[in-house]
Amino acid sequence: MQTRNITVIGAGIVGITTASYLRRDGHQVTVVDQRPPGEYCSFGNAGILSPGSCVPIAMPGILSQVPGYLLDPLGPLALRWSYLPKALPWLLKFVAAADVKRVEKIADGLRALLSQTFDAYAPLVKNAGVEDLIHKSGYMVVYSSRKAYNSDALGWKLRRDRGVVIDELDAAGVKRRLPGLSGDYEVGLFLHDHGWCANPERLTKSLAAQFERDGGKILQRKVLGIDVGPDGPRALRTDAGDLPVEHLVICAGAHSNEFSSQLGDPLPLEAERGYHITYSDPRFQLPMPLMVPEQKCFVTPMEMGLRIAGQSEFAGVNAEPNYARADVLGKLMQRMFPGISDVDATKWMGRRPSMPDSTPVIGPASRFGNVHYAFGHGHIGLVGSAPTARLVADMIAGRPPRIDLAPYSPGRFSR
Ligand SMILES: Cc1cc2nc3c(=O)[nH]c(=O)nc-3n(C[C@H](O)[C@H](O)[C@H](O)COP(=O)(O)OP(=O)(O)OC[C@H]3O[C@@H](n4cnc5c(N)ncnc54)[C@H](O)[C@@H]3O)c2cc1C
Repeated sequence: MQTRNITVIGAGIVGITTASYLRRDGHQVTVVDQRPPGEYCSFGNAGILSPGSCVPIAMPGILSQVPGYLLDPLGPLALRWSYLPKALPWLLKFVAAADVKRVEKIADGLRALLSQTFDAYAPLVKNAGVEDLIHKSGYMVVYSSRKAYNSDALGWKLRRDRGVVIDELDAAGVKRRLPGLSGDYEVGLFLHDHGWCANPERLTKSLAAQFERDGGKILQRKVLGIDVGPDGPRALRTDAGDLPVEHLVICAGAHSNEFSSQLGDPLPLEAERGYHITYSDPRFQLPMPLMVPEQKCFVTPMEMGLRIAGQSEFAGVNAEPNYARADVLGKLMQRMFPGISDVDATKWMGRRPSMPDSTPVIGPASRFGNVHYAFGHGHIGLVGSAPTARLVADMIAGRPPRIDLAPYSPGRFSR
């Protein structure tokens, strides 16, 4: 295998796992990021490692649900109306993806990728000495009523049809598994073979530190643009001068299309902003994460305390956070864990790099063989990063793909 000089833009979980897999192949790898590793979207996610997350966000019927969500100030979805004209092309593609036949295909692609998560993370976390961060004991999904559960029937069918092992529980079963949870939940689903990471920031930083110990380089620079020649990128223009490049991998999260556009691939990527609150209150702990689909959020036992994470806000990548969205999560938390103390609780906003079909872009640029894309993981960037990284390393090494790569093709929106 030919070893190369490879530059990765982005030190989030996708960039760091990709750089780690490339380094394992013997390439000279440099990661460039304006921030230290793991301090953007990969900092504060819910930590869920869900090999069965094969259900796209845009499902049949979404169009009838959106107005209700938007009109509910405590709902899980928000749109800054001034941003609507900019978001519209993406939203139209999002709605177009919510087609019955299309969601079956999307689910196939997501399941093929995400089912590899624990296997793909294993060598990286072992090498970095952070196996303690990965828990594999399943998680719970709870519905307040059977009616609400039934309204998600297609999503559960998509999972079950693809081999996800799920136990259905009644209200007593939910209470037995989650004794600390208040409120009445008529239906619970326990997902086997799922898990979580107890600190996504520490995971990214630990893998980054190991990558450097293994001979990789991390440069803290803002990339301002790409100097593109007839054969592809020649240099990155950065705030500390030009950086020559031979082979480029773009993992810049919600900013990736700024770079792919310069390379001739203006891909539909939107910053889908989410929020979290992390409570250090030790009186409440959970034995496993909990998902509440009606409010589209997760509560996860982190090593720092309990974290509730969720919300989808479309306001543009650079708009200031609106922590009223986090307060919506705070109210829900008070209902589920009455009296939980918010002393020392921290709030955070992150930008999910979301594609309209909930599927990441993994593959070569349309015009240049020396550029690969690995971005657009939306809600599944933690669970999807290590499998993505291994695929990118396989592509660059010329090894036969371990799964069908068509679902992730960067060209799928131009057909
Ligand atoms: C509330 C919330 C909950 C979530 N929960 C989960 C979950 O439970 N499980 C899951 O799998 N996923 C979850 N996600 C999604 C997941 O966090 C993201 O998909 C993932 O972090 C994306 O990783 P990334 O490396 O692509 O992007 P990022 O972590 O955003 O990294 C991109 C990097 O690129 C750098 N960059 C961008 N532009 C430039 C530039 N011009 N110059 C230099 N550097 C640049 C940024 O500084 C950043 O460090 C959640 C997200 C949110 C918001």
